[in-house]
Amino acid sequence: MADVDVMTILDDQGDTVLYYRQSQDRTGDELGISRQRLDGRKLCELRDWRVRAEVADNDTSAAGKRRRPGFEAMLQAVQDGQVRRIVAWDMTRLTRNARDRLRLLELGKRQGLTVAFVRGSDLDLSTPAGRLTADILGSVAQHEIEQKSDRQRRAALQAAEQGRRIGGRRPFGYEPDGVTIRESEAAAIRDAYEAVLAGVPLGRVAADWNARGLSTPQPKRDGSPSPWTAQTVRPTLLNPRYAGLRSHVTEALRESMDPRAARLKAIVGPAAWEELVTEETWRAAVELITDPSRHTGPRSGRGLLTGVGRCGVPECGATVHRGAAPARKGRAGHPTYRCRASMGHVGRASEPVDWWVTEVVIGRLERPDAALLLADDKRPDAAKLRREARALRVRLDSLAGLLADGVLTEAGVRRESVKLRTKLSDVERQQADAGRVNVLGPLINAPDVRAAVEALDTDRLRVVIDTLMTVTLLPPGRGVRFGQDVESWERVAERISASIVIDWH
Ligand SMILES: [Zn+2]
Repeated sequence: MADVDVMTILDDQGDTVLYYRQSQDRTGDELGISRQRLDGRKLCELRDWRVRAEVADNDTSAAGKRRRPGFEAMLQAVQDGQVRRIVAWDMTRLTRNARDRLRLLELGKRQGLTVAFVRGSDLDLSTPAGRLTADILGSVAQHEIEQKSDRQRRAALQAAEQGRRIGGRRPFGYEPDGVTIRESEAAAIRDAYEAVLAGVPLGRVAADWNARGLSTPQPKRDGSPSPWTAQTVRPTLLNPRYAGLRSHVTEALRESMDPRAARLKAIVGPAAWEELVTEETWRAAVELITDPSRHTGPRSGRGLLTGVGRCGVPECGATVHRGAAPARKGRAGHPTYRCRASMGHVGRASEPVDWWVTEVVIGRLERPDAALLLADDKRPDAAKLRREARALRVRLDSLAGLLADGVLTEAGVRRESVKLRTKLSDVERQQADAGRVNVLGPLINAPDVRAAVEALDTDRLRVVIDTLMTVTLLPPGRGVRFGQDVESWERVAERISASIVIDWH
């Protein structure tokens, strides 16, 4: 089709446009551009119409989804009053779908356009009879559009209920069919969930994926691969598809909230494709990623207990953050944990506290009974929780039916729905807990627990602490000062232990 530009001006005194379209005909009745041109020109000659321009579109490349630049340019020329007549082979050649047809007819009525076909009679939109025909054709087109969108809506809902996928962009980790696992990417995704549960920030997950030579499924505009960033990793890991869950975001939901948040709300059941991680792992990761308390403060300033340690002032219990104490009398200030709620509550030098808490963690994990932390009675029963969640979702689904059947009133449905949703979010929270227990396993089973704990970076160690216990920092008593130059670590430990409360989970 490269032989014809989008719009070729032949005679700028002319008022007729010849329109051709190369389409992906599967009927065997392929009608080439050259044939359309030959017949169209002959028609103009016979009627003595001056051809202003020829317009051609090529639809063969993109399954009817791409815009048609020629068609758009032609509508613009009609709008501008340069064109009074359009000649095409037939209506299906001129307009690709009902929406195009409606646009053309509406514009044509306003501009008194004549549409002439090689096959078919003229449509003179400057006459009442022509406009009547256009109205009828327009109503038919409108009806077709509505039917189609209704069909699409119902098809989408049905696909969701069956856990099937309905097209769209290739999901990372799967082949374009959305079902076949692409192992190189799937491995990266599984590792990422594990890393996130161990406290690794999303920026580092992105760096890891890039280092593996992976890029996002959506290339840049110029076609070059688009590298991962924390901003693109986040919605990816939040996608329920990786837990083998299918969500169905209705139009109403999409309008009322962020589409990615909607995806979390709109889980309808198990998907037809294989999951990459368990639902528990996924929920635990979602909880971590979406917890706002974990994203406050600059990354560089986050201490081991930031967002995890608690203020010990009675009735407070706010989390602590780490900041530098102001330098005094020529001595540099040292980093200090402070209560987020009130400056006056707790101020504790962070270094000795971090050291002490790390020792407590190592001591706990080295104990012979540490394996009990992983024992089944401590671990929520994942299979049971999954069954419960599924049953609750089915019951939520059936509410609409009960309303329709008159079993429940609208108020009754609302009440029941609130009850079921509360239960469901409780079960989902337990599922998230079940996923997070996995953090401790590798440490407890390590041949050298101390070395394994000390090898953790701050982010991972913070999650271990959060899984094991609650650390509450009391204000140190008056006159108690901690400093390496003054006291031995043993003395420090003695004093610290008196002003830190550890509650084991
Ligand atoms: Zn406080």
